[in-house]
Amino acid sequence: MPAHLPDSEHPRIVIIGAGFGGLKLARSLARKPYQVVLLDKNNFHQFQPLFYQVATSGIAPSAIAFPVRKIFHRIPNVHFRMAEVKEVKTDEKQIVTDVGSIEYDFLVIATGADTNYFGNAQIEQNALPMKSVQESLALRNKVIEQIENALISNSAEERKERMTLVVVGGGPTGVEVSGALAEMKRFVLPKDYPELDFEEMDIHLLEASPQLLNGMSEQSSTAARKFLEGMSVKVETGAMVESYDGHTVKVKGGKEISSSTLIWAAGIRGNRLNGIPSDLYKGNGRLEVDDQLKVKGLKDVFAIGDISYMPDEAFPKGHPQVAQVAIQQGVWLAQALTSKGKPMKGFRYKDLGSMATIGRSRAVVDLPIFHFRGFFAWLFWLFVHLMNILGVKNRFFIFVDWMWYYIKFDQNLRLVIRTKDKSE
Ligand SMILES: Cc1cc2nc3c(=O)[nH]c(=O)nc-3n(C[C@H](O)[C@H](O)[C@H](O)COP(=O)(O)OP(=O)(O)OC[C@H]3O[C@@H](n4cnc5c(N)ncnc54)[C@H](O)[C@@H]3O)c2cc1C
Repeated sequence: MPAHLPDSEHPRIVIIGAGFGGLKLARSLARKPYQVVLLDKNNFHQFQPLFYQVATSGIAPSAIAFPVRKIFHRIPNVHFRMAEVKEVKTDEKQIVTDVGSIEYDFLVIATGADTNYFGNAQIEQNALPMKSVQESLALRNKVIEQIENALISNSAEERKERMTLVVVGGGPTGVEVSGALAEMKRFVLPKDYPELDFEEMDIHLLEASPQLLNGMSEQSSTAARKFLEGMSVKVETGAMVESYDGHTVKVKGGKEISSSTLIWAAGIRGNRLNGIPSDLYKGNGRLEVDDQLKVKGLKDVFAIGDISYMPDEAFPKGHPQVAQVAIQQGVWLAQALTSKGKPMKGFRYKDLGSMATIGRSRAVVDLPIFHFRGFFAWLFWLFVHLMNILGVKNRFFIFVDWMWYYIKFDQNLRLVIRTKDKSE
């Protein structure tokens, strides 16, 4: 089945994934002498850094999801298809999708990454991930449902289990979601549920390595821990979660925590595509590329963003899997593809720094030349995130939501929205 794309005199570049990398590449190729076919299984781009705010009822999902088609209004050489790629046939320079087959001259894999459960099927079945808008909404539903259920518990043990939330993974995602849950516990939930005693509610943050925010400076890691503990989050480092059956979290060494909600933010792995030889995928499912971003071992196939793995002197274990790498690679690849054969210096990642927020007025920021934390770091975090969100309207609504929350300590988004099965 063909995917019904228009004919073009120009070579065709197919980009799989409209995340940070794929979208930047497609935008940078606008009106260039290529036919660009951008594919994504969703018809929207997702701003992942704010998933945790959707999950904790801080902002609406529509504020961080932007329709891809809207971005390419009046750009005739970019064609979007909402399509899931099922297979890549590199010998035939063709991909197979759920809306048909598409031939390519150049293929760019920008499929990003998904949650990594490190092969633990039990945890995968029972834990809640946060790698898409849909999963963030499922998490929002679960947290609110558990507090609703706490009201109708038959015993103190049952109530305690429902009011205990466990976050696994002390990277920026785990730290940010723990901080936001602690704020909900302190400022929001007691007003909604006056019949419950929120002293009973525990939020645990478990991290297997010896410190939070690995990859950031020691000062930031220590400050984040102090901020979280000041907000009554029970932080444990060196705590490796071994199993979770939906009720009991078992930590290596024997510790057990009763909880009906476990949020898994402990790792990611590349989104693989059928047809790409499995030996080309390196540690945690990334495709090794050379400094021209070409997938080693394949012809005319590139990989950018979280799925790509390019160890170099500055990053011997590959680049960090963050938005800036994907964006810079998208820009670089567009330049390389339009350089008309002029030799280009290989891709080098310019590290602009990293940051994490830990609730109202608290954040940690590591810039290449200095580190800071506290209120100004939080303002800096707000500014950077706001400027990176797509769409003026989204920026405006998020800004209003943040200011409203800052002044009122409240939000109207604590809605449990489930899809209804037609048979119900
Ligand atoms: C909760 C969370 C918080 C984060 N916070 C930060 C942060 O604060 N700062 C930061 O820099 N980074 C952050 N990141 C990381 C950042 O979001 C990623 O590094 C970035 O999104 C990678 O961009 P990408 O283009 O490689 O992939 P993505 O943005 O993940 O995009 C991949 C796209 O490919 C599509 N896709 C995948 N498989 C297929 C297929 N088979 N067919 C069709 N489409 C497919 C997906 O639908 C998706 O749209 C965070 C990530 C998460 C999950």
